[in-house]
Amino acid sequence: MRSEDLLRPTPAGLYSPAGDFHIDPTRAVPRALITHGHSDHARAGHGSVLATRETLRIMAARYGDAFAGATQAVTLGETMAIGGTSVTFHPAGHVLGSAQIAVEKDGLRIVASGDYKRRADPTCLPFVPVPCDIFITEATFALPVFRHPPPEAELGKLLASLAQFPERTHLVGAYSLGKAQRVIRMLRDAGYDKPIYLHGAMEKLCRLYEEEGVALGPLAPAMVAAGAKGDCAGAVVLCPPSEIAERWARRFPDPVPAFASGWMRIRQRQKQAGVELPLILSDHADWDELTATITEIAPAEVWVTHGREEALVRWCELAGVKARPLHMVGYEDEAE
Ligand SMILES: [Zn+2]
Repeated sequence: MRSEDLLRPTPAGLYSPAGDFHIDPTRAVPRALITHGHSDHARAGHGSVLATRETLRIMAARYGDAFAGATQAVTLGETMAIGGTSVTFHPAGHVLGSAQIAVEKDGLRIVASGDYKRRADPTCLPFVPVPCDIFITEATFALPVFRHPPPEAELGKLLASLAQFPERTHLVGAYSLGKAQRVIRMLRDAGYDKPIYLHGAMEKLCRLYEEEGVALGPLAPAMVAAGAKGDCAGAVVLCPPSEIAERWARRFPDPVPAFASGWMRIRQRQKQAGVELPLILSDHADWDELTATITEIAPAEVWVTHGREEALVRWCELAGVKARPLHMVGYEDEAE
């Protein structure tokens, strides 16, 4: 079995000639296998979609029930035959429902990790290393400068600021799928039990997480009418990152603009986003997690995609692991 007959990069995304399906296609295809619900991986309009039940629910919440011609939910760890291939989904530790997809035929196994991280996340199952011949890794933060601090330390900064500025609204920019729920759940685990206020764009997915068993505690809509500024004084308000520097943010009393993202490592990004309180909290593997994962899985070959491909390819070569960049387009880092 040649690897390009099992899985190969195409303009529409990874395609399996042997199984006749795409993984996370960037355009509409007859048969799509989807790793997770972020919009650059999970798009509407495919003929059929195979994904975890949670990912299917997330897609339905975002695109409506008719987001695909047909859907089928997979069980993690259960192998199924597709075309001439065997396909198994494994947890990726990225967001609720996220999965790596292992594709196998004639003794050759390729694992497409999708997005993943190795840090603890109370809102999803942890990443499972799957032995394979070829490991397809993401590269969002694949530069040595990206070393994410411990998540608890970053959350501690938010708690310290809340204590220091009890009258100011802490306006936390967080991506609406994954990051928002992780921030809320981490606040709860740290003992924060006050209501947390949500921008309208957050509500649907927070409800879905709760229905899937991720308890988020008391939540309330951040609906502050002009002149009613007292409501959110000293409170945590979660909103999409794009809102923290916008008009919407000005309704809150003396807000502390915060942003929970791996990009907050970069000072220029902090300034661009108008952030006073940067929280370096990422749902992607950092440099150390990427290299440690490749070392742990020890595949014969690594394919590197979406992000800073060259540095990780170079690292693999120096470590004696065959590696290539896939140069696929259409995967943004908006979800971080
Ligand atoms: Zn993602």
